[in-house]
Amino acid sequence: MRRISIFGATGSIGQNTIDLIARDFAAYQVVALTGGRNVAQLAEDARQLRAEIAVTADEALLPDLRERLSGTGIEAAAGAEALVEAARRPADWVMSAIVGAAGLPPGLAALETGATLALANKESMVCAGPLVMGTAKAHGGAVLPVDSEHSAVFQALIGEDLAAVERVIITASGGAFRDWPLEKLAEATPEQAATHPNWDMGQRITIDSASMFNKALEVIETKEFFGIDPELIEVVVHPESMIHALVGFRDGALMAHVGPPDMRHAIGFALHHPQRQELPVERLDLVKLGQFTFRAACETRWPALRLAREVMRTGGLSGAVFNAAKERALDAFIEKRIGFTRMAAVVEETLNRVSGEGSLIHAGITLDNVREADHFARVTADEIMKQQ
Ligand code: NAD
Ligand code: MG
Repeated sequence: MRRISIFGATGSIGQNTIDLIARDFAAYQVVALTGGRNVAQLAEDARQLRAEIAVTADEALLPDLRERLSGTGIEAAAGAEALVEAARRPADWVMSAIVGAAGLPPGLAALETGATLALANKESMVCAGPLVMGTAKAHGGAVLPVDSEHSAVFQALIGEDLAAVERVIITASGGAFRDWPLEKLAEATPEQAATHPNWDMGQRITIDSASMFNKALEVIETKEFFGIDPELIEVVVHPESMIHALVGFRDGALMAHVGPPDMRHAIGFALHHPQRQELPVERLDLVKLGQFTFRAACETRWPALRLAREVMRTGGLSGAVFNAAKERALDAFIEKRIGFTRMAAVVEETLNRVSGEGSLIHAGITLDNVREADHFARVTADEIMKQQ
């Protein structure tokens, strides 16, 4: 039996992971399940999967979680430290599907045990790519990508020589506003931004898809995960979301990964790696689909893409600053304190304020330094938003 834990079990990726696990329950022993405020879902899943421990991120909800688990023998715990403690429990495979920089500490703790980390939490890679990969290497663990684009690149690279890679193209649906006139974008509401044309995902990543902050994070994730030169990474808008990424080789060949927009493919690939097992995903009827279309990813419409290039040029802790400022700007947009197009402006201004000689972004990439850069960026972004 494989021992597995799921961090962010109550979210979109977490629930898709549970769907796969529950189909073959006898093959797994569930160690830890974690969630945020939805303790009803967390407790239900913990009971169904007979987890050893359930952890809510919110300490105020611990009594509620305890009550829901009473008489089951399942432990209950709460808070950021409890998440890290749960990640230290030995497991073979750990799903990292918390949203935001909060996913980094438990992910690192899991890697320190030598576990295989299935990484949906792209923010970990953006904030601390070298630390994540270095921790996996130091403890004999592995990181497998769960983001659909990165799973696609990973699969296209199997058996290939990285030196023969000429380009990596990751696709973007274009999100909710891809067809909106530019001048209307400033008035876009969080409700409008939170509807995705193809994928069914959490609220934050769906809005990040409309602003392309999601793709910006993914470009940085591509560089960090595969060690690909940023110059070789391209983004192309592909409204159908059927081709997830393409890898181009020096002989001119492009290897594409094609599949329906269903995260259970990438999750299942990481779950069964290095084998391929049957997965409950739709089989594509190409004739019915008829065509795949592509458009340029315009940096005027989506300035987040330009900012990602800047972050990769600067390096160091600028990814942590970028992500934290984005998280605060996104909070403010969701709470209707700033408009849709302000988000990129706030992130750019935060990056400008923290760059330069002697800046903290040139300190080493340790968890403490990432935390400091993250905190500083949040405070700075809040200040910028207060000033307007
Ligand atoms: P979601 O909002 O549906 O779920 C997030 C999970 O994290 C929930 O369990 C929530 O309770 C928990 N959580 C939120 N804040 C937390 C905190 N501060 N501490 C601890 N737990 C917290 O998000 P999602 O769409 O499932 O995305 C999860 C991660 O996977 C993100 O990093 C996202 O970018 C990535 N991802 C998601 C998809 C997708 O299809 N949903 C695709 C690719 C990558
Ligand atoms: Mg993705």
